[in-house]
Amino acid sequence: MIFEGLTGHETVKESLGRSLACDRISNAYVFEGSQGVGKKLCAKLFSQALVCENNNACGSCPLCVQALAGTLPDIITLTKDRDRASVGVDNVREQIISEVFLKPRNARRKIFIIEYGDELSVEAQNALLKVLEEPPSYVTFIICVTSKEKLLSTVLSRSQVVSFFPLGTNLVCDYLIRNYNISPERANVLAKLSQGSIGTAIELCQNPDKQTRIEKSIQSLVNLKKNSLKLREMVEFLTEEKENITEIIDYLMTFLRDCVMVKTHKDSLCVFADRISEIRVFTENISKKQLISAFDKLSNLKLSLKQNLNFNATVSEATMRIWEDLHDKGSGHQI
Ligand SMILES: [Zn+2]
Repeated sequence: MIFEGLTGHETVKESLGRSLACDRISNAYVFEGSQGVGKKLCAKLFSQALVCENNNACGSCPLCVQALAGTLPDIITLTKDRDRASVGVDNVREQIISEVFLKPRNARRKIFIIEYGDELSVEAQNALLKVLEEPPSYVTFIICVTSKEKLLSTVLSRSQVVSFFPLGTNLVCDYLIRNYNISPERANVLAKLSQGSIGTAIELCQNPDKQTRIEKSIQSLVNLKKNSLKLREMVEFLTEEKENITEIIDYLMTFLRDCVMVKTHKDSLCVFADRISEIRVFTENISKKQLISAFDKLSNLKLSLKQNLNFNATVSEATMRIWEDLHDKGSGHQI
């Protein structure tokens, strides 16, 4: 069955399934959607369907078997140099240009999957464009990106854009309960935290480092409210976790958003639904306005960090401002 194992994305499945049924296959697809939403899995399953001898991703013909094992020479996944942040023009030349004009060896189509579309350099995209301008009829490119804005308009105009929207919380929650040994309550928290990305939800479920990071993030904020001496501790934590700072800021913002929900009696809307009593204690003697102000500081911190300002100074300043908010050193209004 085509797209078996891909959770959700019914519109995508329908549209690609129709193209397969009518044999109207584009030479290039751009799969656009947030990280972990299912683009790479869809690219793999779509490729399998494109090469299957029975045209339906039967799973048992020799080409399906090879496609699933990742050993079919006609499905090429572009790799990048480990020591480089971007996919360079050399990668495109060596792995695509040198291969693209050679006819498929076993299948009727030749498929190039570019998983790191976000990291394609401009030079690499321009090299790719030369092929996209006059592609051999048997070639299909699948470029996965978090946003189509990452690609040159000239590349986009020669591709069919397929959008992957975030999955519903229920869908992710059901998937976690079905595949992992966790309670529905826990699955619900992780599903909400993952914001519709099944890959993120799985990582939250499986990676103990992520669990520890969530714990430490929330604890640092809770301690900051309890004791001003903990200010330095929080700065140290954020500095040590420089690599994961965006993720941590997201956890902190989610926690503060939950605090506002509890404060306004909307507990059911909380992401950290398993921490309601902890949130109640945290929000004692603290106003909604203070919470929103601290939330804004985190939002600004996220923006500042994107501007490559001095990391330590920016983080220290923001933590100080959040401490001021939590201790009402600003307006003094209580709401
Ligand atoms: Zn097959």
